[in-house]
Order: sequence, then structure tokens, then C-alpha cells
Amino acid sequence: MATWICPDCGYEKEGRCKPKKCPECDKNVEFTKKEGGGYCGG
Ligand SMILES: [Zn+2]
Repeated sequence: MATWICPDCGYEKEGRCKPKKCPECDKNVEFTKKEGGGYCGG
């Protein structure tokens, strides 16, 4: 499990996969990984 952070608003989300969309910004953003491991599909 990794923690992902939205670069726009700082929203944090846990999950194996990098989120494609931020629920706070309600738009597609490039999440950055804060900690943890794991990537979907390698
Ligand atoms: Zn956001």
C-alpha cells in the first residue's frame, strides 16, 4: 500500500494504484507518491 498526494490540493489517498483523478480537485492530476510501495501493472 502506498500513499499518494495530489500536487494541487495536498489530498492524500491510500492505495496500490496511482489515482487518476483527485476527488477534491475533481480533475485529473499527476499524483505523487509519498510513501509505501506497489504500482499497478508494474
Ligand atoms: Zn487535489
